[in-house]
Amino acid sequence: MQNPEVTFQDAYARTVDVGNTIASEDESDADVWDVADGMLAGAIQFWLYSRQPCGDPLCEDCIALSTSATRMAELRKLIEHFTTESDYFHTPLDQDVGRA
Ligand SMILES: [Zn+2]
Repeated sequence: MQNPEVTFQDAYARTVDVGNTIASEDESDADVWDVADGMLAGAIQFWLYSRQPCGDPLCEDCIALSTSATRMAELRKLIEHFTTESDYFHTPLDQDVGRA
């Protein structure tokens, strides 16, 4: 099995590449917001697919994924983490940035 960090970085980089490719295709005048929304919907679909509980009610690996509410809580934690880690989360044009 591949190193999890390598797998993560590969999936991350390839996802960004797909977005850049769709947004820059010659005949495409796709709005980057539409591209991003579609990619996010697809990523969530794949994440939910990957997090189906195994069916054993005593499985400790699946406790946090055993209901739709707990899966949503896990997904929100990841969204919060990846959002705050992003270089694009804060911008100089944010309305809550102080200006002297
Ligand atoms: Zn399980």
